[in-house]
Amino acid sequence: VMASMAHLQKEKLQLQEELLELQEKLAARENDKLSLSLQLQGQVETLKEKLLEQAQEISRLRSELGGTDAEKHRDLLAAENERLRQEMKACEGELRELRRQQQAPCRDCPHLQENAGLREQLSQLQREAEETRAKLVELDLEVQQKTNRLAEVELRLKDSLAERAQEEERLSRRLRDSQETIASLKSQPQQIKYIIKTVEVESTKAKQALCETQSRNQYLQEQVGMQKQVLKEMEQQLQSSQKTEAQLRAQIMMYEAELERAHGQMLEEMQAMEEEKNRAIEEAFSRAQVEMKAVHENLAGVRTNLLTLQPALRTLTHDYNSLKRQVRDFPLLLQDTLRSARAEISQAIEEVHSTNRELLRKYRRELQLRKKCHNELVRLKGNIRVFGRVRPITKEDGEGPEAANAVTFDADDDAVLHLLHKGKQVSFELDKVFPPQASQEEVFQEVQALVTSCIDGYNVCIFAYGQTGAGKTYTMEGTAANPGINQRALQLLFSEVRGKAADWDYAITVSAAEIYNEALRDLLGKEPQEKLEIKLCPDGSGQLYVPGLTEFRVQSVEDINKVFEFGHVKRVTECTNLNEHSSRSHALLIVTVRGLDRSTGLRTTGKLNLVDLAGSERVGRSGAEGSRLREAQHINKSLSALGDVIYALRSRQGHVPFRNSKLTYLLQDSLSGDSKTLMMVQVSPAEKNTSETLCSLKFAERVRSVELGPVSRKAELGSWPSQEHLEGDSPGSAALPGRGHASPSPGQLSSRSASIRRKLHTSG
Ligand code: ADP
Ligand code: MG
Repeated sequence: VMASMAHLQKEKLQLQEELLELQEKLAARENDKLSLSLQLQGQVETLKEKLLEQAQEISRLRSELGGTDAEKHRDLLAAENERLRQEMKACEGELRELRRQQQAPCRDCPHLQENAGLREQLSQLQREAEETRAKLVELDLEVQQKTNRLAEVELRLKDSLAERAQEEERLSRRLRDSQETIASLKSQPQQIKYIIKTVEVESTKAKQALCETQSRNQYLQEQVGMQKQVLKEMEQQLQSSQKTEAQLRAQIMMYEAELERAHGQMLEEMQAMEEEKNRAIEEAFSRAQVEMKAVHENLAGVRTNLLTLQPALRTLTHDYNSLKRQVRDFPLLLQDTLRSARAEISQAIEEVHSTNRELLRKYRRELQLRKKCHNELVRLKGNIRVFGRVRPITKEDGEGPEAANAVTFDADDDAVLHLLHKGKQVSFELDKVFPPQASQEEVFQEVQALVTSCIDGYNVCIFAYGQTGAGKTYTMEGTAANPGINQRALQLLFSEVRGKAADWDYAITVSAAEIYNEALRDLLGKEPQEKLEIKLCPDGSGQLYVPGLTEFRVQSVEDINKVFEFGHVKRVTECTNLNEHSSRSHALLIVTVRGLDRSTGLRTTGKLNLVDLAGSERVGRSGAEGSRLREAQHINKSLSALGDVIYALRSRQGHVPFRNSKLTYLLQDSLSGDSKTLMMVQVSPAEKNTSETLCSLKFAERVRSVELGPVSRKAELGSWPSQEHLEGDSPGSAALPGRGHASPSPGQLSSRSASIRRKLHTSG
């Protein structure tokens, strides 16, 4: 049994070894597969590299060529490249599929299940074998025990047999001894009888011992029989165990056969799998080869493309070389060109320079001429111009017939105005008439030419004349929202000066003064109460100046506003009733524009005097007294003096009575020579003001008619009628010289141009 067991075990070990071997083989196969796939992948990788190389080659070529011929092929190559890439991608997909198949070769294979069943059977068989072995070991143990007992029994049997033999031998010896003794005793009858008796007695004892021995022998034999029976049983048991062993062996044989079959199946499956794998590998390989071929073909195509590109490259290289040569020669060429261009340019500049010089000369000449013509024009138009402005009817005029409108205009002539006075219509002709609806802007448009001539070095006076409440201050100062001439003039000066800043340096200064009761006071000074004097310049130029009159340099509208504000505040703090006070005093804004032409050194000085006159209404007549009378007399005197001066100037008299009032004395420079004067006569349209309106308009018309009148001795000697004289005059009366057109004499012209020369003196 043991031997068979050992044999069985050996076989099992063998089987296990075989199984291991098979598993190893399987692993090796799988390794092979893996390496093959890796190899394939490597091939794919190299293909990819080649593709990349081609792409690089293409891009290199493209960059080398860069030109038009290369561009023709570029698209082609790009398309091919794209196609190759797609093929590559498909190839990779297939490869992936293949790998997946390899990784899961028999997931759905029926053999796998069979294999698993076989394996299970095998393990069951092994389990049974194990059980059988355990049973065998048990039996072995029993047999061992029984054998041991048997040996013991046999040993005992042997002992008892040896004992019996000894006993038999001892008994036979004694029997022999006894027979010998008997024989000897027969020879000795007496004694014999006794001895026989003794022997007989002794022989019974022996016989008893023999009996005992025989019974013992009997027992021992029985025991031997029993042992034999046990042995027989044991043999039977052995036989049965041998039978089971045979059975087991048969089973093992069966299992082995089954194992063999499973093994065979497994081998077959492996064979099939291997074949399948080989087939797949072959297929992949052939496909890869085909693709390789296609790639090769593509490569060939690319090569041919390259070949066709080569001539283009050659031409490009040629072009490049020629360009390079050109570039090399370029600096020299550039230098030459630059030199010639420079020469040409400098020549042109020279020409331009000379032309410029010529032009400048001509321009200066033209300028002089223009100035001359302008002066002539102005002179012809009149250096003193008279405008009329009618203010609108206001709330202050009240209601009823008193506030009715008494002024009408001519639709076709903007210089004519009709006044209904005491039922009669009186007409006046001025240089221009502004109706009530005329805006500040419109008024200023008519004035701005005068203002700008100040920049050219002319002196300008603008007077606002009229009764109190007729709109003098409105026209000159205006309101904050709607400024008058003062602010607009300064703004215009600023913009004009800015426009000429390229050639000219200008300085604009502003002074503000007031003449009240023939006393001149500085409105911007620290001591407003201080009376200022008008003095002759010590330099002997004959010019006048006011020592201590404050001048402010202004550069912007903000500056002007500040100055006005300052002057206004001064005036307000000085008097208890500003309205009243302002109507009794002349307010002057003196703007001085000093210019320097940087290129020629020419210096000009122009003065713009903006005068808001005291009210022209007649007060003195109605029995005014004291200070009121004094004020009225002063106003009357100064306005008369202004009239006188203007009259004298217009009629070009030798003597102009500037010194008759502070106002005319102060404005002497700005009224004489080719200075320009504008008289803005303000009137109220209200019925209740018609007599004052009539006076103002008469004053205006006279001023104007004087200018056009011939120079008469009478006029030369006579004086401007006083305010009192004016009131009795009928419109168009002959108190002043009649109308007529007189052209200036040549002498007058030459004196005018001399004065221009005086004004435009050059520095140094
Ligand atoms: P004056 O200075 O001659 O005494 P003002 O200028 O003070 O007169 O004018 C008197 C009033 O009439 C003011 O309220 C002023 O606003 C108004 N006024 C004068 N002229 C006009 C005008 N053209 N448009 C509107 N209102 C005016
Ligand atoms: Mg006023």
